[in-house]
Amino acid sequence: PAAFDVARVRADFPLLARSVHGKPLVYLDNANTSQKPASVIATVDEHYRRHNANVSRAVHQLGEEATLAYEGARDKLARFVNAPRDELVLTSGTTQAINLVAYSYALPRLGPGDAILTTLMEHHANIVPWQLVAQRSGASVKFAPINERGELIVERYLEMLTPEVKLACVAHVSNVLGTVNPVREIARECARRGIPLLVDGSQAVPHRPVDVQALGCDFYAFTGHKMLGPTGTGALWARRSHLEAMPPFFGGGEMIRQVRVDGTTFADPPHKFEAGTPNIAGFVGLGAAVDYYETLDLDAIHAWEQQLLAHATARLRELPGLRLIGEAAEKEPVISFLLEGAQATDLATLLDLEGVAVRSGHHCAHPLMQHFGVPATLRASLAFYNTMEEVDAFVAALLKVRKLLL
Ligand code: PMP
Repeated sequence: PAAFDVARVRADFPLLARSVHGKPLVYLDNANTSQKPASVIATVDEHYRRHNANVSRAVHQLGEEATLAYEGARDKLARFVNAPRDELVLTSGTTQAINLVAYSYALPRLGPGDAILTTLMEHHANIVPWQLVAQRSGASVKFAPINERGELIVERYLEMLTPEVKLACVAHVSNVLGTVNPVREIARECARRGIPLLVDGSQAVPHRPVDVQALGCDFYAFTGHKMLGPTGTGALWARRSHLEAMPPFFGGGEMIRQVRVDGTTFADPPHKFEAGTPNIAGFVGLGAAVDYYETLDLDAIHAWEQQLLAHATARLRELPGLRLIGEAAEKEPVISFLLEGAQATDLATLLDLEGVAVRSGHHCAHPLMQHFGVPATLRASLAFYNTMEEVDAFVAALLKVRKLLL
């Protein structure tokens, strides 16, 4: 396996050095939000210290600097996922990106009898917006099933791509199970049937190189704060023809060409969808996050994460009474599980006292919990800056706190 200097990258993340409840922090809640490297923190700080102004509205020097930095961040992010810059709409996150597609693209195309296809493993962000626009239009939302290993049953998904489906949706990677879905294959089949495909890439972009155009989908939504960037940042990539056909969703400043009392003409995409003052500092920070990724070898970090995943899975399997939820053949480093005789939330609370941060709960995926017949799971989600020693410390802490509960 590729040599990966984890000690060197850890030194770039100031927060990882802190302790929690007197114990060294073991941060295994990366699927929720990632930690930020010093370069991202410094870039946000520097932005407010030296360049702060609003974008696009001012001709003064600071306005120019802020605009260049903000649009420069769009360039970096677009390059990172191989999107043309004018096809990348900057949003507050995946949730806003998917809602934009729901209201601007889907709603005008839906009527009674139509359907949107999603899957049982989606985050609520890839379910609830579809239910809302379905309710308004008389359409329905269909859910493609998954198997007991937590893999999408792809044949069923493809069979469900019937003519009344106006939009198909799927997560690139599940935030609960880590399952990687065969997005290219799904995109090819959707294209053959003329059905546009939206991919929720929130949990993919932090772990693997993504080329939105090579995937062959129509829409790709992702979030900046899970990929080392500040909170409140994210993006929607959509093919230019879709962006041109979509009416604006939010109206206001920054998104117009001309406003008159008798009507308004709109700016070209992507600005047509970016009304109001955006999270300028956040995106400047996200640009620095992309710069940081580019100093790393993405293949090496992927290989390291896979080693961490294999080690953590093997260690957990040794524990009597442990039930793994999600054993897909291809996974990113997210592990959901339950321990017999102990509530997930009690375990997470006691693990916190040991300095171990994991998430317990439904992970915004109620239909998935219903599929597995559980109210909640405990989830450990890893990042490239985690270590084998942290995995071992987590398992040792789990054994210790379990004794307290039995
Ligand atoms: N989809 C998936 C798969 C996610 O993991 C998340 C974040 N947990 C979201 C959507 C929502 O992202 P955000 O809260 O940043 O909008």
